[in-house]
Amino acid sequence: MILSEISKTLREIRVSPVKTLGQNFLHDRNLARWIVDKAQVTPGDYVVEIGPGLGALTEILVASGSRVFAIEKDERLVKFLREKFQDQQLEVLHADALKFDVRTLYQQPRVKLIGNLPYYVSSQLLIKYVKYPSPICMWLLMLQKELAQRLSAVPANADYGALTLQIQLHHRVEYLRTVPASVFLPRPEVDSALVRISPRPANELPAVDTELFNKLVRRGFSQRRKQLGKLIADFVPNWQRTAESLGLDRQVRAEAVSLQQWIALTNYVRPVAAPERHIVDSELFPVVDESDNVLSQASRSEVHGDNLRHRAVHILIFNKKGEILLQKRSRWKDRHPLLWDSSAAGHLSAGEEYDHAAQRELQEELGIDVPLERIAKLPATNRTDQEFIWVYQGHYDGDLKTDASEIDAVEFFPAEVIDGWIAARPEDFATAFLECWKTYSKACRK
Ligand code: SAM
Repeated sequence: MILSEISKTLREIRVSPVKTLGQNFLHDRNLARWIVDKAQVTPGDYVVEIGPGLGALTEILVASGSRVFAIEKDERLVKFLREKFQDQQLEVLHADALKFDVRTLYQQPRVKLIGNLPYYVSSQLLIKYVKYPSPICMWLLMLQKELAQRLSAVPANADYGALTLQIQLHHRVEYLRTVPASVFLPRPEVDSALVRISPRPANELPAVDTELFNKLVRRGFSQRRKQLGKLIADFVPNWQRTAESLGLDRQVRAEAVSLQQWIALTNYVRPVAAPERHIVDSELFPVVDESDNVLSQASRSEVHGDNLRHRAVHILIFNKKGEILLQKRSRWKDRHPLLWDSSAAGHLSAGEEYDHAAQRELQEELGIDVPLERIAKLPATNRTDQEFIWVYQGHYDGDLKTDASEIDAVEFFPAEVIDGWIAARPEDFATAFLECWKTYSKACRK
């Protein structure tokens, strides 16, 4: 839309821009095209647009052939957009984007998020939508210039801070261009900038305890002018030795420490270690016949290498809302690394019973001990990696102490979201989980 069209439309629909909703409408069509171009939208994409306004970006997105899902808080604009784009591949949701359930997006094969964000809530939106792990594979955002600079900053720059590191730990951020206030009606008080955010490739950076990383970073930047060692003394009592071993100046301030050094520092305080391969490979499992009778025992590497039938448990943990906890397997798993799986799962050791193994795995992987109930037993097939599997269920709502060498991330999901996710992206899951989910659904859901 050009300036005169925007003014005319606003008059026709009797809308005057609301400052408290951050309504600044883009009237530079070339820039709108350039923005959509940078999102590399293809017809297979599902594009979520936050705050479509009068549709400056929406019309170009819809024309690209992708499906567009727009979330707009202002009811007057929702009505306008629904009329303007009727019969096109656009769904407009009248909602506050801060309240939208991002997990539902796993039900689409490839999701990109785009938006000229309302500036009064841009930081909250950013934190909500750019968290790890995410169903979104690219974010193209217009932000206040100052916020865009903070996201893309490098060490020793005044904009480099806790937010920079929290976002960059899992994402790459590109500052694409500065956008002057003059391209909006009404003109905002500040300039804007476009950033493109994409997930870092798996294993690009060393694994780290994210919670501790965020704590250290926040503390380190709580007083920018103070030396880092003094600010984190309760985490790192012997700072001098730590700084030396990490190659840091003892008087260093947080702003001079690179992302890789923050990761190394966090791992120095609490290492996230890969399980020791030779110990894991030599664990002994029972080898069983086609009726699950024990024949002998063999090491993990023999059982997996020779495709021998063996035994495992899968546990589904439910919260009070009836949502199911899924885990994203760690990068070090010999099978299905970084894929989604049951809440907890594992092999039976030689001489161990199924029920005992289920309680043990729950404790080892999630740090919890709750009563478990058997749901069903699966036969050993190629889909279960030749495992006989007993599936269990239990209930838990409190904190979880996950084992980072086993688990990359955990999250609760409604059952319908898991159904839609499996239909849209089956490759995201460990195959045995897909079998367990089918069995659970048949046995326990109407
Ligand atoms: N995308 C349009 C453009 O480029 O011209 C409008 C951008 S304007 C900066 C921000 C839009 O976000 C407005 O349409 C506003 O009504 C909408 N908005 C404000 N707060 C919102 C919220 N919490 N959830 C969804 N939309 C919101």
